[in-house]
Amino acid sequence: MDLSRFPRRRYTVGATPLEFLPNFTRALSPDGQGPNIWIKRDDMLGLFPGGNKTRKLEFLVADALAQGADTLITCGAPQSNHCRITLAAAVKEGLKCRFVIEERVPGSFHEDASGNHFLFRLMGVEALTVVPAGSNMGAAMQQVADELVAQGRKGYIIAGGGSNALGGLGYVACAQELQQQFYEQDVRIDQVVVGSGSSGTHGGLVAGFIGNHINIPIVGIGVSRDPADQEPLVYKEAQAVADLLGLGLTIPREAVVSVGGFWQPKYSIPNEKMVEAVQMLARTEAILLDPVYTGKIMAGLIGLVRQGFFKPGENVLFLHTGGLPSLHAYEAVVLGKTPVAA
Ligand SMILES: *Cc1c(COP(=O)(O)O)cnc(C)c1O
Repeated sequence: MDLSRFPRRRYTVGATPLEFLPNFTRALSPDGQGPNIWIKRDDMLGLFPGGNKTRKLEFLVADALAQGADTLITCGAPQSNHCRITLAAAVKEGLKCRFVIEERVPGSFHEDASGNHFLFRLMGVEALTVVPAGSNMGAAMQQVADELVAQGRKGYIIAGGGSNALGGLGYVACAQELQQQFYEQDVRIDQVVVGSGSSGTHGGLVAGFIGNHINIPIVGIGVSRDPADQEPLVYKEAQAVADLLGLGLTIPREAVVSVGGFWQPKYSIPNEKMVEAVQMLARTEAILLDPVYTGKIMAGLIGLVRQGFFKPGENVLFLHTGGLPSLHAYEAVVLGKTPVAA
């Protein structure tokens, strides 16, 4: 698969590490009868503290520049990693940046919040509009773009999470990077566990695996939806990515598998399994997960191990998608000082 015909900016030097997690593997299965857990450190991507949005933005920002845009417009929740990394890319490229923030949990937006919100202000977001849950985000971003046109400027709208076909190419690139690492490090992975939200990561990885003939099953852990709602979204994204690449193939529906039950009670609202996962990774491997995404995604992996979903000795790869700054907006929660949902 040839990604070179798509314009791309580079925000990361080299490949992110692919590592075995010996202490965590032992803590999870003290009898030695469980799977071996590996990690792909996409929390070490560029636009530090980077994450999966860095990969998507390499293609999206290149497109914005090609179109002559002077401002990036995107949307997300009050602690959005995607908004923060988009802003970081804008700063680096000398562009302005504007957000539409969806207050998915009523009352959750605070002007003086820490975490990502603090970084929005520190890196100088030009304008930020807060809209209630369920608002039409596309229309709200278009309104911002229209305001810019009236001022003789040019905005470039980036879909929520950077999840359209072009953004999904970032995870096709990740699939190719992994393929190379499996070969060079002589690692045989049996299953991949990835977060599944706006779907660009999961969908892009599915398209990238199929397009590169990597026959490793991928399990998505929903961060905001159970499989009946999540899988059609991911399927659509995977097919859109395959079409953009001109692969001329239909993604098999069964290639898209997700698991629910770990994100409840609600997107971004903490639960006990997330707290356990965040503490476990910090205390066994000094790897920092976040409360909104990777803590719940890792809780999903831990849950699957305990349910016997993986065979003993299988090599399971966890894709760490980033999210570090929001950890600081939930310090008491992850230290177990604030009661959370079961
Ligand atoms: C956005 C995000 C995800 C979810 O990825 P999608 O491509 O939106 O499905 C997972 N982890 C982190 C840290 C994120 O910021």
